[in-house]
Amino acid sequence: GDYSKEIAATNCDELDQLTASFNYMRERIQQVEKMRQELLANVSHELRTPLTSIRGFIQAILEGVVPEGDQEKYLKITREEVDRLTRLVQDLLDLARIKSGSIKLNKEPLDIGELAGEVATEFRLIAAAKSITVETDEGLVISGDRDRIRQVMINLLSNAVKYTEQNGHIQIRVRREGGQAVLKVRDNGAGIPETELEHIFDKFHRVDKSRDAATGGTGLGLAIVKELVELHNGSAAAWSAPGKGTEITIELPLVGSADQGN
Ligand code: ADP
Repeated sequence: GDYSKEIAATNCDELDQLTASFNYMRERIQQVEKMRQELLANVSHELRTPLTSIRGFIQAILEGVVPEGDQEKYLKITREEVDRLTRLVQDLLDLARIKSGSIKLNKEPLDIGELAGEVATEFRLIAAAKSITVETDEGLVISGDRDRIRQVMINLLSNAVKYTEQNGHIQIRVRREGGQAVLKVRDNGAGIPETELEHIFDKFHRVDKSRDAATGGTGLGLAIVKELVELHNGSAAAWSAPGKGTEITIELPLVGSADQGN
C-alpha cells in the first residue's frame, strides 16, 4: 500500500485515533527503512575501504613501484587490513545472528567476578605497560553464556587498552547491587565527549574518525556488547570525563533475582 502520505483527521473520535496510529506507524516504517539504508551504506563503506587499500598495495608491488626493501612493510600493512576485514565480517555475522534471534545462548551458572579475573589475567599479557586491576565481590552468580560474557568483557577491555596512552590504568570492579551484578570497566584514557556518549553503542559510530581508524577497530564492539548484555536481560551504560577517562557499566541480573529471565 501507499503509506507515504499522511492521513488527515476527521471529526469522528475513533477514526481520529486510527488515523493517529496509522500516521505513527507510517513514520516508524519510514524511520526503520532509513536506518536499514544507512546501515547498508555503512557496511559497504567499511568493507570497501580495506579492500581498496589491499588492492592498492598489491597493485603497487606487482607494478614494481615498491622498492624491494619496502615490500615486507607493505605486505605487513596488507595483512593487517586483511585481519581487520576478517574481524569486521565476524562482528557483522555476530550482530546479524543476534538480531535475527538465531544465536543460541548456552546459559549456565556463571561466577562473573571469577570470569572477570580470568579475562584480566589474559589481557595483562597483551596490554604491556598498562596496569589492570580487578576488585570483585564474591559469589556473584549470573545465568550466562560463558563465551558471550567473555566476549563482552574482552570488547570492553580492548577498548580500555586501545583508548589509553602508555602507562594507562584500567580498573575492573564487580559489585552486587540489589539483585544485579554490576561490572564496571574504567580507564584513564582520552575519554568521550558528552554529546557522543549516547551514540557509542550504535553500530559503526566512532568518536574520532582518524584516531579510531588507527586503532584497527570495527566500530561494532560496543554494539555487540549492548546486544549480548540485553540478551542476558541486562543493560549497558557509559560515563566519561573527557581527558580523564571512561567507565562502561554492565548490569546483569543475579541468579535467583526476579528479572533474571531464562
Ligand atoms: P571500535 O572498534 O571503534 O573501538 P566500539 O564499538 O568498541 O568500536 O566503540 C565505539 C567508539 O566509542 C570507538 O570508536 C571510540 O571512539 C569510543 N570508545 C569506546 N570505548 C572507549 C574508551 N574506553 N575510551 C574512549 N573512547 C572509547
